[in-house]
Amino acid sequence: MAEDHLKGQVTEEEAREVAEDAREEKWENPSFTKELFMGNFRLDLLHPFPEETPEQRAKGDAYLDKLGPFIRDHIDADEIDATGDMPPAVLEGLRQLGAFGMKIPETYGGLGLSQTSYSRAVEMVTSHCGSTAAWLSAHQSIGVPQPLKLFGTDEQKKKYFPRLAAGAISAFALTEPEVGSDPANMRTTAEPVEGGKFFEITGEKLWCTNGAVADVLVVMARTPSKMVNGRERKQITAFIVEKGMPGFEVIHRCRFMGMNGIQNGLLRFNKVRVPRENILWGEGLGLKLALITLNTGRLTLPASCVGTTKRCIEILRDWANERIQWGTAIGKHEAVATRIADMTSMTFAMEALTYLTCGMVDRGGYDIRIEAAAAKLYNTEATWAILHDTLQIRGGRGYETAPSLRARGEKPIPVERMVRDFRVNLILEGSTEIMHLFLAREAVDAHFQLAGVLLDPRAPVSAKVKAFGKAAAFYARWYPTRWLAGLRSLRSYDEFGDLARHVRYVDRTAGRLARGVFHCMMLYQAKLEKRQLLLARLVDVGAELLVMTAACARAQAMRKRGENGEKAVALADHFCRGARRRIDDLFRRLWRNEDVRSYRLAQRVLAGEHTWLEEGLAPTYPGVPAEAPRAAAGGAR
Ligand SMILES: Cc1cc2nc3c(=O)[nH]c(=O)nc-3n(C[C@H](O)[C@H](O)[C@H](O)COP(=O)(O)OP(=O)(O)OC[C@H]3O[C@@H](n4cnc5c(N)ncnc54)[C@H](O)[C@@H]3O)c2cc1C
Repeated sequence: MAEDHLKGQVTEEEAREVAEDAREEKWENPSFTKELFMGNFRLDLLHPFPEETPEQRAKGDAYLDKLGPFIRDHIDADEIDATGDMPPAVLEGLRQLGAFGMKIPETYGGLGLSQTSYSRAVEMVTSHCGSTAAWLSAHQSIGVPQPLKLFGTDEQKKKYFPRLAAGAISAFALTEPEVGSDPANMRTTAEPVEGGKFFEITGEKLWCTNGAVADVLVVMARTPSKMVNGRERKQITAFIVEKGMPGFEVIHRCRFMGMNGIQNGLLRFNKVRVPRENILWGEGLGLKLALITLNTGRLTLPASCVGTTKRCIEILRDWANERIQWGTAIGKHEAVATRIADMTSMTFAMEALTYLTCGMVDRGGYDIRIEAAAAKLYNTEATWAILHDTLQIRGGRGYETAPSLRARGEKPIPVERMVRDFRVNLILEGSTEIMHLFLAREAVDAHFQLAGVLLDPRAPVSAKVKAFGKAAAFYARWYPTRWLAGLRSLRSYDEFGDLARHVRYVDRTAGRLARGVFHCMMLYQAKLEKRQLLLARLVDVGAELLVMTAACARAQAMRKRGENGEKAVALADHFCRGARRRIDDLFRRLWRNEDVRSYRLAQRVLAGEHTWLEEGLAPTYPGVPAEAPRAAAGGAR
């Protein structure tokens, strides 16, 4: 039966409920992007551009001054890529530099860098070696230090922080063979024993970065469900697990298309006995902990993206000047030149977005979930496009490995490795599709809070009547004023100089975006969540507006400081012109598209109606029986 593999899985509704439970709710400042979706342009939330303090900056600068030479002199990224191993001397050198404790408070032996300076360090490492960056990031962006900092007890902090800061490696274990984007489906269990003094963890965790060598892991597992209002509520709890605990086993080191130096494993837990005091935060709070950890953890990837694309610009600046074809440097051919202009301005905008969100974390009190998710989504997609262009502009040399280039006497420029190392970033820590859904949920949140009851077929009539009155009062004022956003843009924003017209555009387009969200809700009602492409277009408009504002605010801050100000304005201007074109296109495709037709065709393909097209293929997977397991599930058992 086609449905057999669905047995034992939670329903779509249950998965949603668990994810909803896991949202953070209390913030002093609202999210800029969430306000945009309601048509409110809250420039005050990100202008003046939030930044780390001068003391934090100086501390970060001093650290980067040590990190840079170490990377240059001791990390051979091509060697790591070729051997698939991180040399012990590199790890030891990083330990000596305190690189495993960058985010750990100084009181516990860490460096206590700000989020901004930590991200600058990751940016620098990634620009040289993706594998090394992943070791550091899996350890402290999502590994034990991050949830420990947010939710650990004093005892837990005293016990683990000093070890972690000294270089004990940690990892974050959420994914399972059957559980990827949808963690509510978790199979790993933690059964209370000895009257709840201990828990026995049983199950498997897949693709855990650092997991194959980690000393300490944060492991999410299902603890016994609770009955709430007569309904079973699934409980997920986070545990600190130590490598030496009996029953913990690394089954397999996974290998990938890139980041060959990471130690990523399939892990087995066979009744691993963990004391209650190793629970992080509290029983049943594990999924919320994992998602909150990822909210900030996700900020590392945008910084990695910036490190990657800055390297692309550096590579192409030389190459497009020195490579002569058809009698002229390839950088003088329009098809090449425009891509260099676009990637440079895009990199400026990505950097603005990254350090805007980091600055918000450093200042504190901001709801950064949405900006962090937008930064992850935007920067990873943009970087992939930039890598594609970089490889193309390098021509055959883009496809050739760095060691091969070196062997025949050319500069060992590692575009081929950079492409391989980077690709996974569109999948992990919330894939592009999941980030779209996450952001879409936030885009419609305020409307659902107000009018959700009206769309819920199970809601009692009395509740619907009450909700109708409230919603009618709100929308009677809100909707017409979304049309007046154009008038609001009579605000001049003069202080932005040449960029003021782009800021005005964001102001008036916020109203258009809010109307788009509202019209889609009215039209599709509860079925809107199935219209993923429509929602993704709205989300992408919101993201473009966010990035435009970040770029303008950053350029303005740089101009004020007299730090490459006019050059930054030129890049922000170029970026904004491109963003406006993309936004217009997204709005156009909101109502004129082939979404429904495409969906129907895909279902026919999946039902096997077009297998005729597959004729002529060679037999695949030599040595694997035709009835081999469908997915990773069971593959390792
Ligand atoms: C190199 C590497 C390192 C990793 N490191 C870690 C780690 O340290 N810790 C950890 O816990 N995990 C880790 N992961 C796992 C990673 O987070 C998952 O791969 C990711 O969550 C996606 O899960 P999945 O691969 O099972 O894809 P699936 O969830 O099976 O999704 C498959 C495809 O369907 C799409 N999709 C899924 N649901 C929907 C939906 N509702 N709507 C639209 N599209 C959808 C996805 O976007 C994806 O394109 C790592 C993975 C890799 C490859």
